Order: sequence, then structure tokens, then C-alpha cells
Amino acid sequence: SRAVPQMPNFEYQPKKYLGPSYEKMQNIWATNIISAFAPHFKEPLLIHDGKMQWLFDHTGRRYLDMFGGIVTVSVGHCHPKVSEAAAQQLNTLWHTTNIYLNPKLHEYAAKLTSKLPDDLKVVYFVNSGSEANDFAVFLARLHTKNSDIISLRNAYHGMSYVTMALTAQSSWRNSLPLAPGFHHTMNPDVYQGLWGGSHCRDSPVQTTRHCDCKPDECNACDMYYGQLEEIFKYSLRAGNLAGFFTETIQGIGGVVQFPKGFLKKAYELVRTNGGVCIADEVQTGFGRTGEHFWGFEMHDVIPDIVTMAKGICNGLPMAAVVTTPALAQSLKGAYYFNTFGGNPVSCAAGLTVLNVIEEEKIQENAHVVGTHLLKKLAKLRDQFECIGDVRGKGLMIGVEMVTDKETRTPLPSNHFVDIWDDCKNMGVLIGRGGLYHNVFRMTPPMCVTREDVDFAVGVFEAAIQKHQKVFMK
Ligand code: PMP
Repeated sequence: SRAVPQMPNFEYQPKKYLGPSYEKMQNIWATNIISAFAPHFKEPLLIHDGKMQWLFDHTGRRYLDMFGGIVTVSVGHCHPKVSEAAAQQLNTLWHTTNIYLNPKLHEYAAKLTSKLPDDLKVVYFVNSGSEANDFAVFLARLHTKNSDIISLRNAYHGMSYVTMALTAQSSWRNSLPLAPGFHHTMNPDVYQGLWGGSHCRDSPVQTTRHCDCKPDECNACDMYYGQLEEIFKYSLRAGNLAGFFTETIQGIGGVVQFPKGFLKKAYELVRTNGGVCIADEVQTGFGRTGEHFWGFEMHDVIPDIVTMAKGICNGLPMAAVVTTPALAQSLKGAYYFNTFGGNPVSCAAGLTVLNVIEEEKIQENAHVVGTHLLKKLAKLRDQFECIGDVRGKGLMIGVEMVTDKETRTPLPSNHFVDIWDDCKNMGVLIGRGGLYHNVFRMTPPMCVTREDVDFAVGVFEAAIQKHQKVFMK
């Protein structure tokens, strides 16, 4: 068997762990935390220190974070400039200020909206992605005076009462009545979907599965679009559309990309029917897709409402909804208030995140390192039968694991977990997603280097090589 790949050097002395013992921590989890969400890995990881793209456990062991704290860490764990800005603000004022003028809130609002095109110039600050999408539903309904909302199957938009109804993956919906007024159209999934179309997605790598038609004659986009038209025919009363929600690359759904042109046609149909278009950029925003600052730009569309969270503040609670003055006018006479939304500590950090993205050429790094990583993973895909698809853009990457390329049957969970766990044991933390939980998600802090991702690919390859003997005949 091959040697374990060498971890790149990183000059940093992790802080000494002074918390409760590992066993006590597990006890507290079982007794006081009891969660619907179990910790990752067979032996859960105890993380207590982080620096840029690296995390450290209680023994001082170092891990390459290829998941970026679930995409929340955009420019690096405890990035010194972001930490400094937050600390300075902590020593100045942290009273929630949105009933007063405050320089951090106002400076940040101006800077953040300068990153968006056209009329997208009005921002509302909230604290989480779910709250942002909740607010976007509220705004779309208020503006259009209609109630129906369409989202895509396999979408993830949050866990509140309203956003769980927007979310359309059974594993993320509870079997309790959900909010009314939501419709889900067929997901234009070019790998697992009915009509293929993988060569029509915007990625430097293509899948091994193509639909039967030639790329310039591909009709997959039209077929998926036809399903959206059917929703109008069968599910919606004419004249009652409020909005159409999508991620611009589906994150939790397994880094699913749509065929080029789908969103553009969908937006036209939605607007013709009186609805507004909402882009959920919670995972795709802030340069993660590399070529563009916002995911919607790769679809050549301009939404009416953009929601953002996670990487916006490098891990501190902060989220935002940006819209046009015309839509914002609809709030006149309505009421909305959010105590912690736009608090000065998060605003100071968020402002610094935007500056760091510019100063340290973070978006360019996501593009260059991400494309390099995608191409290396595509080589592995050609080598291993169990890697069905490699997709994504920039540092938003999915690797779909299957039993074989022909049937594309999801790799059973125990085999997936064996590979996943082994990567962790060799020092690389990867995310998991997809409707069948069979997609490795690689979305590291965007300061990750070429050398780091070479190491990650080496580890991933070694883990697959070791375990595929079990599930491959
Ligand atoms: N939208 C998307 C695309 C997400 O990935 C998430 C979180 N995974 C949310 C919304 C909800 O964000 P939060 O967990 O901050 O409520």
C-alpha cells in the first residue's frame, strides 16, 4: 500500500487544550446537548483551535480543513485582521445599534452593497441564513401581494418553519405540518437527473455521463424548464406567484449545478408571471465560485433579492438580504425588526472580511486553486469506478460516490463513512452532502494553497484505494 501523503508545513503553535476531558465532553453531549444532529466521524473530533486553513484537536494534532466550518470560514480561521477588527469593536461598542446611527453598520452597508450590481442597493441585516430566507419570503409576498413560492427539489434554504418548507430534501424536513404556499419543481440535476446535460454546466470539469445528444444540440435545459412550466399548469393559481428561490449551486444537496441557461429562462418565466427572483448565496457568495463574486453571475442573471450568510463574516453570526429600492418600498407600512441584526461587532468583522477578500486576492485564489483541485479530482474520477462525478466551480466542489459509473447507484453509507473517516485519520476534514449522503463536499477556507489541496487529493486517493477493495468486486 502507498505511504500516507506528507502534510504541508505550517508555522503555528496551537494553544494548549485546557477544557474538559474527551470522555467528559462526550458525556456532556449525551446528557446536556442531545441533538437531532450527531457529530461527524466514528470518533467525534474535539476541535479547540484554528488558524487559517488548519484546525487543531485537543492533543495538538493538525487537520487541513477542507470544509471551512461548513463553508462559514471564508478567509481563514481566526484571520488576524478579522479577529483584530472584532476585538477592537468589542472594546468600543457592542450594543445593538440599529435604532441609532452607527459608523460600522453604515460603512458596512455601503461597502457590502457596492459588491452587487444594478439596483441591488438596499440591505437588511439578520443573523443566520434561515432568517435571511425567511425575510426574503416575507419581502416577496409583501411586494407582490401574492403568496405562492417555488423552489427546487433538493434545495436547502434553512430550518425555520418557513424555510423548512422552502427546503426540499426529505432528510432536512420534519414530519410535522410545514408552512403553506410552497411548491417544488424538478431539480435540473445534470448528473442524476432524467435528461443529463452535464456538458451544459459551468465547470472546468465535465462528468463521464453525457446525455445522448451532442453538446450544441443538448435539450436537457429545455426539458427541466418544461417541468417548471408544468408547476404553473398544475400547482399554481394564475396570478398568485410571489417568488422563485434557488441556490446558484446547491450546497447541502451535493454541490449540484444546473445546465447553463436554466436560471435565465426560469427568471423570465417567473417575472412574466408576476413573481420576483431570489438567489440564495449563503454558500456560493463572496468569491467562493472563483470566477465571480456571486454565484448568480455565472448564470448571467440579476436577482431581485439576494440572501447571504455563512462566509459573510468568516464564522461570526451575520446574514443579510439585499434588494432593490423598489422592493424595499414595500416595507413601508409593514413592520420588521431584528435585535442583533447589524450588531457593530459582526459589522466590523464583515467589513474586514470584504477588505481581506480584496487585499489578499481571495477570489482569485479560489479560482486558481479550485480549478487545480477540480482537475486533479477529475483525474481520480477517471481512475476509480466509485467516483461517479466531480463538479463545481472555484472552491465549491462535489465528488459523488457511486457503486459504479453505469448505474450511478449511491455508494452505501458504511463504505462512504470508511473513506471519510480515513481521510480524517490522515489529517484531512471533508464535508458530506447530497440527497443520498454520498457526495464529498470540498469547500475549504479560501486561503487554501495548491500544496494543501495536493495533500488533500493524495489523502483522498489513499483512502479510496484502501477501502475500494471491500466494495469493488
Ligand atoms: N441557505 C443555504 C444554501 C444553506 O446552505 C444554509 C445552511 N446550511 C442556509 C440557507 C441556512 O443557514 P443557517 O444555518 O445560517 O440558518
